Amino acid sequence: MAPSSAARLWTTLVLHGCCLLVILLDSKAQQTELEWISSPSTGWEEISGLDENYTPIRTYQVCQVMESNQNNWLRTNWIEKGDAQRIFVELKFTLRDCNSLPGVVGTCKETFNLYYQETDAEVGRNIRESQYVKIDTIAADESFTQGDLGERKMKLNTELRIIGPLSRRGFYLAFQDVGACIALVSVKVYYKKCWSIIENLATFPDTVTGSEFSSLVEVEGTCVSDAEEEADNSPKMHCSAEGEWLVPIGKCICKAGFHQKGDACEPCGRGFYKSSSQDLQCSRCPAHSYNDREGSWRCDCEDGYYRALSDPPAVTCTRPPSAPQNLVYNINQTTVSLEWSSPADNGGRNDVTYRIMCRRCGWEPEECLPCGGNVGYLPAQSGLVDAYVTITDLLAHANYTFEVEAVNGVSDLSRTQRLFASVSIATSQAGKDHELFLHFYTSHSPRSPSQVSELIKEKVQQRSVQLSWQEPEQPNGVITEYEIKYYEKDQKDRIYSTVKSKSTSATVNNLKPSTAYVFQIRAFTAAGYGTFGPRLEVTTKEEPSATIVTSEQNPVIIIAVVAVAGTIILVFMVFGFIIGRRHCGYSKADQEGDEELYFQFKFPGTKTYIDPETYEDPNRAVHQFAKELDASCIKIERVIGAGEFGEVCSGRLKLPGKRDVPVAIKTLKVGYTEKQRRDFLCEASIMGQFDHPNVVHLEGVVTRGKPVMIVIEYMENGSLDAFLRKHDGQFTVIQLVGMLRGIAAGMRYLSDMGYVHRDLAARNILVNSNLVCKVSDFGLSRVIDDDPEAVYTTTGGKIPVRWTATEAIQYRKFTSSSDVWSYGIVMWEVMSYGERPYWDMSNQDVIKAIEEGYRLPAPMDCPPGLHQLMLDCWQKDRADRPKFDQIVGILDKMIRNPNTLKTPLGTCTRPISPLLDQNTPDFATFRSVGDWLEAIKMERYNDNFTATGYSSLESVARMTIEDVMSLGITLVGHQKKIMSSIQTMRAQMLHLHGTGVQV
Ligand code: AMP
Repeated sequence: MAPSSAARLWTTLVLHGCCLLVILLDSKAQQTELEWISSPSTGWEEISGLDENYTPIRTYQVCQVMESNQNNWLRTNWIEKGDAQRIFVELKFTLRDCNSLPGVVGTCKETFNLYYQETDAEVGRNIRESQYVKIDTIAADESFTQGDLGERKMKLNTELRIIGPLSRRGFYLAFQDVGACIALVSVKVYYKKCWSIIENLATFPDTVTGSEFSSLVEVEGTCVSDAEEEADNSPKMHCSAEGEWLVPIGKCICKAGFHQKGDACEPCGRGFYKSSSQDLQCSRCPAHSYNDREGSWRCDCEDGYYRALSDPPAVTCTRPPSAPQNLVYNINQTTVSLEWSSPADNGGRNDVTYRIMCRRCGWEPEECLPCGGNVGYLPAQSGLVDAYVTITDLLAHANYTFEVEAVNGVSDLSRTQRLFASVSIATSQAGKDHELFLHFYTSHSPRSPSQVSELIKEKVQQRSVQLSWQEPEQPNGVITEYEIKYYEKDQKDRIYSTVKSKSTSATVNNLKPSTAYVFQIRAFTAAGYGTFGPRLEVTTKEEPSATIVTSEQNPVIIIAVVAVAGTIILVFMVFGFIIGRRHCGYSKADQEGDEELYFQFKFPGTKTYIDPETYEDPNRAVHQFAKELDASCIKIERVIGAGEFGEVCSGRLKLPGKRDVPVAIKTLKVGYTEKQRRDFLCEASIMGQFDHPNVVHLEGVVTRGKPVMIVIEYMENGSLDAFLRKHDGQFTVIQLVGMLRGIAAGMRYLSDMGYVHRDLAARNILVNSNLVCKVSDFGLSRVIDDDPEAVYTTTGGKIPVRWTATEAIQYRKFTSSSDVWSYGIVMWEVMSYGERPYWDMSNQDVIKAIEEGYRLPAPMDCPPGLHQLMLDCWQKDRADRPKFDQIVGILDKMIRNPNTLKTPLGTCTRPISPLLDQNTPDFATFRSVGDWLEAIKMERYNDNFTATGYSSLESVARMTIEDVMSLGITLVGHQKKIMSSIQTMRAQMLHLHGTGVQV
């Protein structure tokens, strides 16, 4: 036994699609002699040869076809199996066809046998046949009849066999020849592993597949760093016998302070936090909080701000409220009622309550002591929700001070001094007047703002004065308001008026002309008002002698002037914007037409579509606009269609706390590229921005699991074109117009958002069980590539020619006006029950015909008003086409006045020839009634016509509606279709032959 005879355990790992192949033997990879054992030695022979690519290889050949009773064995070296359980043996060989060999009948064979022997170590060089287990008899799929090695390329056979489970450390393979002419070109032995991957933030190591074809090896995942297992949901995967990972269960999630980026958890950046592993994203620190570390689970409150124990990390940091305001009292002998109003600043919380502090004082203020337990408080002393309290059982002829403090959830955390309103009262028994000292203690820290040092008069008019000032030098907090106090200087009774301002300027109106006024100002913070600053004296202007109504006198005029000025500014801004953009490199084509103005001029409040391509990270766009759904909420039931990226299924979505709803689920097929994933999810990023009853609604996406899915509301009747073809002639005109109205409303919404669809067609409209039509199929321009109707044009890119406006075909000018053109084609598709626009004309002919001014004729039974609207949509100059808003208006009017939708039978017919010339003598081209019925797609009634004797077109042309009905044609739509065609036939016969047809 030569030690070198054992096959080396190959460690070469070959990535093969999804899985890892561990190669144990590859005869082709060995350039030196294989030195397998051949018995007898006159049988198999090791020969150097060339493979199909003319690379030198070692082969074994045998061709003892002339002699009978052949039994030639060839055994490989020992193959150590490593951790494999299921071994793949791939053989490549050529086999000569016995018929091509003269004189071999009876002895020549066309098969050989494959065996294996399991051992724990190498055994001797003798082959003991009885110790081998047969794997299979191998026959060639193709044998070759003649020629030499040069022909092998054409006749190479590949056979794969699987052995296992194996229990010993290694094995031999053996090939038994019983009289064939074989060349064994290569022998490859390998096993499969599932390749280590990270899925759902868990690492799964390289895993050897199970021994049986059907066995799945369950593997526990290990969370990546900074991730943890989701509660009761530890990550597991299953390695299939084919080396593919299947059925992921459970997952890891990023710990608090970390968020997911790809397959790893990254710390939240500075200024961000993530409080729980359950949260998906890091969030920006809430107001009045900060952090300057990465990987934080919470943010710290700024100085003076706090978080109550019950406050979750996501809420804003807050502070104690300011003091209650306007404290008043009422005294009745030894009972005092206090009332106040809420504090100016509730500290950012809505859990403000009040507490009362009662002190009985001597005649000196510092001689105060708490009132003690003998005093009663109604309803309570603290925790008061309403701003009043009654204090009873006070002592007669005593001095009391009551402090009312507003408190909230963070008051007890604050170390700053308390702020309260306080009142000092002397009680009596007789109920007379009482001395009252009312103080608002604002001198406590935090201190109130310092004085505004200077008040400046900016503009003085007859009845108004405009003032400005600087923030005080020591605001001691955030100034929330200024109060301006003013009075007429010469007025005897000094009546003050006040005006409040949130900025550092204000205009005081309603003043008297030629009058001297005195102004003073003070600032307000949470700590209360500062003191008034120095006085400013201003005399208003004299009234002009002629009486003219000024804007100051008339607020209506002010509003009007402001409104007009505002509108002018707005219009200028919009024009400026558009002109600015044009100067910034708009192509010439873009400069034509005015609908840019119409479509780009968004009124405030209208949501605008955001192109997901503008996002650097497309995943962000998806998560900005689409809800991430948990795959466990989705139940896939059946496949309903095929999309560009994978199957479309129907199923149900059950969100927690909601009823389950039927949904359509678009899946991304396995093995997708990153670009395919991006393009697939792009539709969700677009659809997720829309919310309109006539636009298909996105429920959400599954991006954190496989398969990647887009979940959409379920539209029971599928796409509109197929739906109409299935129900040919079965709807009333009002029903059809109702569908068109829905589509137009959906398109009006999309165009208002600034979204240009580019592929509006009946196949891209979905219909639900209530016949509601919804626009669907959103993608970026290049996604039109998916549309089977889209063809390449000379301007580059693919375009669905029959649906597309001329300017979009010619120079790719896609706008909402080109969508209006497509809408006209959809109208035609709807009114003709899904007929193909321009029938079987070629795309080139369509482009030519449109250029020459032809337009599709009215479909059968189409009200003329509707055809006129189609023709308007197909105006060459896009500025002349109606806007979607107008289309909705026109259709609404028609629905309200159904008389406008009446069509006299036969007045509005579809020409049978695809050519659009109304004068084409169609009926002359039909040789039989069958021909005619086929042309109008009513061939199903052929037997009804022949059975009742209508065998010539002339006889058909005489038929009345009653005759048609008597044939057993019950569908009203079909009766109309046939009758309308008969009427045209009659008219054409009259025109052609001058022969009237008597009816
Ligand atoms: P798409 O990839 O959008 O073209 O979809 C392929 C096919 O799946 C369509 O033609 C429909 O028949 C079907 N389909 C797509 N979305 C829905 C849906 N929301 N409801 C019902 N069927 C749908």
